[in-house]
Amino acid sequence: MVHGEMSPLSRTLEFGFLVIAPALLLAHVVRFATAEDRIWWWPIPVMLGLIAADFGSGLVHWAADTWGSETMPVLGKRFVRPFRVHHQNPDDFLARDFIDTNGDVAMVEAPLLALGFALPLTAEWGQAAAFFVVALCAGGLPTNQVHQWAHMTDPHRVVKALQRAGLILSRNAHQRHHTAPHVVNYCIATGWCNRALTSIRFFPRMETLVSRLTGWQPRSDVRS
Ligand SMILES: [Zn+2]
Ligand SMILES: [Zn+2]
Repeated sequence: MVHGEMSPLSRTLEFGFLVIAPALLLAHVVRFATAEDRIWWWPIPVMLGLIAADFGSGLVHWAADTWGSETMPVLGKRFVRPFRVHHQNPDDFLARDFIDTNGDVAMVEAPLLALGFALPLTAEWGQAAAFFVVALCAGGLPTNQVHQWAHMTDPHRVVKALQRAGLILSRNAHQRHHTAPHVVNYCIATGWCNRALTSIRFFPRMETLVSRLTGWQPRSDVRS
């Protein structure tokens, strides 16, 4: 079982977004640096944005692992299937190149980053929101890259150093997710939220809630 090939059109589009998203991030940094005055507590929304990025990566991953099916229209092939393939054949992910690995996240983030320019840096709330959004996107953009690195047996030494420092998801933390039944450590950006979410049983509780509201059964469509 392998991940589907991308069409030349989607490759070109994803390449475009991989240029646009980092360019927008850089433009935001320049905008912050040249702002008249900056809120002194900007590290707080930045930290919250980075935490939200990891939490968001977990939520998206959990949704794809737990609900829906590969045969669903649109989302099934592009969203659910890659996550399901990844459990059955983790090494297939290592064969995906840079554009295939990172393009989707860049495509989702580009509009959000563009909207971020509408936040006024003259107001304190606007600055806080802008710092949050930019940190969220900066933390989220390399998610799939970081995930791929967590699967490499011998990544670049800079990557290893970042993994050891706990700044990005480590191989050991992620291996726990790859142990059946694949229901812990869903977060794949920094991995910072994994321990806390496991300790409060966040995802099992969410599954109970979703089942109660919709009648769906978690992982009902997952082939073992
Ligand atoms: Zn998974
Ligand atoms: Zn993985």
